[in-house]
Amino acid sequence: MAARLATEVTVTAWRRGLYPDNAAYAASGEQGARAFLDAIEAMGIDAVARRFREACRRLPYRRSATSGLLERRRRVLPRSPLFYSRPVHLVRGEGVWLFDPDDRRYLDCYNNVPVVGHSHPRVVQAVAQQQGLLATHSRYLHEAIVELAERLQATLPPELDAVMVVNSGSEANDLAWRIARAATGRDGAVVTACAYHGLTEATHALSPEEWAKGEQPPYVATIPAPDGYRGPYRREEDRWVQRYAAHIDDAARGLGDRGFAAIYLDPAFTADGILWPPSTYLREAARRALALGGLVVADEVQAGHGRSGTHLWSFQASGIAPDMVVMGKPMGNGFPVAALVVRSELLAAVPEEVELFSTFGGNPVACAAALAVLAVIEDEGLVANAAKVGSYLRQGLLTLAERHPLIGDVRGEGLLLGVELVDEARGPAAGNARKVTEAMRERGILLSATGPAGNVLKIRPPLVFQHEHADLLLQALDEVLASS
Ligand code: PMP
Repeated sequence: MAARLATEVTVTAWRRGLYPDNAAYAASGEQGARAFLDAIEAMGIDAVARRFREACRRLPYRRSATSGLLERRRRVLPRSPLFYSRPVHLVRGEGVWLFDPDDRRYLDCYNNVPVVGHSHPRVVQAVAQQQGLLATHSRYLHEAIVELAERLQATLPPELDAVMVVNSGSEANDLAWRIARAATGRDGAVVTACAYHGLTEATHALSPEEWAKGEQPPYVATIPAPDGYRGPYRREEDRWVQRYAAHIDDAARGLGDRGFAAIYLDPAFTADGILWPPSTYLREAARRALALGGLVVADEVQAGHGRSGTHLWSFQASGIAPDMVVMGKPMGNGFPVAALVVRSELLAAVPEEVELFSTFGGNPVACAAALAVLAVIEDEGLVANAAKVGSYLRQGLLTLAERHPLIGDVRGEGLLLGVELVDEARGPAAGNARKVTEAMRERGILLSATGPAGNVLKIRPPLVFQHEHADLLLQALDEVLASS
């Protein structure tokens, strides 16, 4: 900095000589630079460096101590889950990297929320500027929520014409459930056997992944997820996809007098083990739901925002026309914002006097974040990047599968990939999956495991992931599998 300031003083002196008639303008920066240089000289350059370093340390939680933090957390947040037997303590993120208080870096192969990369400057700036200008609720006119709704609508089939901006995927799915019941006059839902759609009372009921033993709400019927590797119908079989979809009929009929209001589908079947069935599955499921009079909710919370590598919304690859689309997690790159987009005639079934409003839903800051995310995805070509790097990574994983018998199956689209770990009898190797994720963490690579048996490694990095990052992941996984 001192060199930069000295240069400024020198350049100004030189310019003054060149343009004597315009000396005041030519020297306009000189006074400030000299004052700054004098201050540095007076304080001593080492002391200045120390003050800058101190200022950096004062950034929020930047130098937070790890010791004792876990115990403090467990005391006050007893039901808040943590990854890893040695939890990772993070204070900073940048792109695909996360940093602990000692500046050790971790490659983020797991988090879909920072879809455009951790702390993307455009999103950070959009949020900070809007927060500094106005942060109210949506009962006043403001352009951001309108612009966001218009932008979202433009990315979807035209009949999905009504947008509601909320704060979480759970809230959006919960609202979808209310609308489905109002619009159909029915009370029953169909979901896949290990689906996850949220935390609220209504969406927990739609989330078998999180049901307690024996828990199954009477108004929810489950169908087997389209797992062509482990489920009842296998990829090698003819029409296996259609056979899975055919279960919708029995499930819907099983709802009895309650009737079939809606089926919720995550097109990637993430919680069911990252299944990504061929698009015929969604087409067949939607066709059957329509014939049964039930609505289709496409839950894009996991698979959306370009992760599939072909479209912004993953259902679009199948050409189906869902009745409602739910988006969330990545929508604000970490700022809480989610949305539900529905056909307006469905919304009309909710009586006018019922106000659909949430205090923080669609606030200007959330909308600024969501708009910035959409802009970055487009400007940085992140859908195409998900396809390109995703397919490279998938190839690499398939190569590892040839060497490591622990890998039974590799599947996925774009940058949402699953690696199913199996024992000698092809049974699910959940214990190994846990060991692998722990060993990867020790090597500075973050991923997780999912699926009904917890034996599917879940690879779901920010969409700015590059080939070099894929190589780091592949190399570490190769080593870890070799020693498993
Ligand atoms: N739907 C799906 C498919 C999800 O994965 C999640 C969150 N993991 C949700 C809904 C719920 O979203 P949130 O946690 O934002 O409430």
